[in-house]
Amino acid sequence: MTYIITSLCLRDSGCVEVCPVECIVPGHPREEYPWFYIDPDTCIDCGACVPECPYEAIFPEDEVPDAYEAKGGEYVSLPASSGLSGAYTGTNHHGETVKLAHTRQLDAGEVVDLTADIQANTDYFSKGMGYSGNDKGRE
Ligand code: SF4
Ligand code: SF4
Repeated sequence: MTYIITSLCLRDSGCVEVCPVECIVPGHPREEYPWFYIDPDTCIDCGACVPECPYEAIFPEDEVPDAYEAKGGEYVSLPASSGLSGAYTGTNHHGETVKLAHTRQLDAGEVVDLTADIQANTDYFSKGMGYSGNDKGRE
């Protein structure tokens, strides 16, 4: 199994530092890969990353919710191809500014299927930059 980062990720980067096998990588280019991604072939399922995420964006693969019920106010962030146009500006774990251009805030009680986000983690390492994303920085 592996753990999965979902579209609730707002590039806080706090999860990266606790991963004992350094398999969490920032997505680049952001227009295509706006989250951080977990290499499923390297993840050892330790779960250490989960409590580090302030947005509760990380799940064991078999627990990614297909009916995530929003608390209200949380963001989903998606690739540019999604057509979402909401802007998000925040501060990451290191106090650096994070700007995302394709987001949407969820309404309280809104139900969202996050299982569609599973494949992106694998794709980033098979079709995207994978570990080379580290060279581009976390912002
Ligand atoms: S801590 Fe959460 S928001 Fe930050 S990069 Fe990791 S998954 Fe994304
Ligand atoms: S579950 Fe453990 S090994 Fe897997 S990404 Fe999270 S911290 Fe890394």
